Amino acid sequence: MIVVFLGPPGAGKGTQAKLLSQRMGLLHLSTGDILREAVKNQTPLGLKAKEYMDRGELVPDSLIVALIEECLPEEGGVILDGFPRTVAQAQALEDMLSSRNKKLSKVILFDSPDEVIVDRLSGRRVCSNCGAVYHIKYNPPKREGVCDLCGGSLVQREDDKEDVIRHRLEVYRKQTEPLIDFYQKRNIIFRLDATKDIQDLFSELEGILKDGR
Ligand code: ADP
Ligand code: AMP
Repeated sequence: MIVVFLGPPGAGKGTQAKLLSQRMGLLHLSTGDILREAVKNQTPLGLKAKEYMDRGELVPDSLIVALIEECLPEEGGVILDGFPRTVAQAQALEDMLSSRNKKLSKVILFDSPDEVIVDRLSGRRVCSNCGAVYHIKYNPPKREGVCDLCGGSLVQREDDKEDVIRHRLEVYRKQTEPLIDFYQKRNIIFRLDATKDIQDLFSELEGILKDGR
């Protein structure tokens, strides 16, 4: 099974991808997570990507497509979280899969209004050590500012500051939303009401993925 999670930043894609990968044994491939790790380690990719990420812009397609070509496994199920984000990336993914005699199983659209997105992103905190994701109101850690999993300190992402959030939403509308039409034409898109809470959303998601359509 190869599934794409599509939707605005902060809609809850990463949170659901982590739950789903544990439940169904799928590989969770998040381009955002891979890029942040590359930035942290100051790899050549990280050095090129950093300025785009800090501004809330998309990293150039050529870098992202090369990254996915390297990371996409030959076998086994995958959740693609945050990729593709442009029509060019979607086309490249289709070509990549067809050269391996595979195709996308489903695209899950996380649908959410801007107020919910801004509220989620401004309250998001991430572990500076292991990358675990929390929310100050909706998914708080047991001890304020401390990661439940590894004891690392929780920080706010630079791109989760309000002015960058607004810009990321504009970028989403302009560059990523056309993918809805792209996948509607292929009849593989399923819409989720992402305003629901984490557990309800997960049940709905499982229902969609278990349904053989
Ligand atoms: P994305 O991967 O789409 O950018 P995240 O999964 O990181 O989004 O979620 C963004 C923020 O919203 C995080 O702080 C997360 O804890 C919180 N969150 C995720 N899903 C929900 C939900 N269904 N209800 C409320 N808060 C959520
Ligand atoms: P995310 O963690 O998915 O919110 O991604 C954080 C940032 O990484 C984005 O704002 C982009 O700068 C970059 N990024 C992640 N995935 C992609 C992608 N598929 N294409 C271009 N840029 C990406």
